[in-house]
Amino acid sequence: MKLELTDAKKWINLFVEKLENNQATLNELDTAIGDGDHGTNMDRGAKAVTDSLTKKDPDNLADLYKATAFAMIQKVGGASGPLYGTAFLDMSKAVKEENIELSDLIQVGTDGIKRRGQSDVGMKTMIDVWQPVSDSLRADKFDQSVVDNALSKVKDLVATKGRASYLEEKSKGHIDPGAQSSAYLFESLIEVIGA
Ligand SMILES: [Mg+2]
Repeated sequence: MKLELTDAKKWINLFVEKLENNQATLNELDTAIGDGDHGTNMDRGAKAVTDSLTKKDPDNLADLYKATAFAMIQKVGGASGPLYGTAFLDMSKAVKEENIELSDLIQVGTDGIKRRGQSDVGMKTMIDVWQPVSDSLRADKFDQSVVDNALSKVKDLVATKGRASYLEEKSKGHIDPGAQSSAYLFESLIEVIGA
């Protein structure tokens, strides 16, 4: 399946809403294994995305993803801003000529995060949510259980990338905040496509 503009806008708007509603949860998760600001950072990014899309309502997918990317890069800060920014910027380039399959779109975003963060699956990062979502979309098996399973796996992992990696074994038992905000992104997608 392909995500068309109207649904893609709904997707981004729902994500923004979830970030604003779950600011405290994301901060708490980041307090346990990071510096406690992921909720605040993502909320700032969420508001910047809304501002940007309100100021200029995008009339194509490339512009929608690009506006999202720029807002994230400029306002989120920390490690997450550039990572989400790269994902959406790469996705914006991928849909420039013509729309692509949703599974391919999410894989493009995932690959962008891997490249930008020099990281891969199993390092207790947002990739541990993005990659299984992409895989399950490709297999036509994407639903809430994919997100739930990804988060429970992330919780058991020892962080080997990012600030949480300094905690080594102590990072185990905590959900990575970037994985959780990515879960909000894909729960928003589920609401839109009705998976
Ligand atoms: Mg932080």
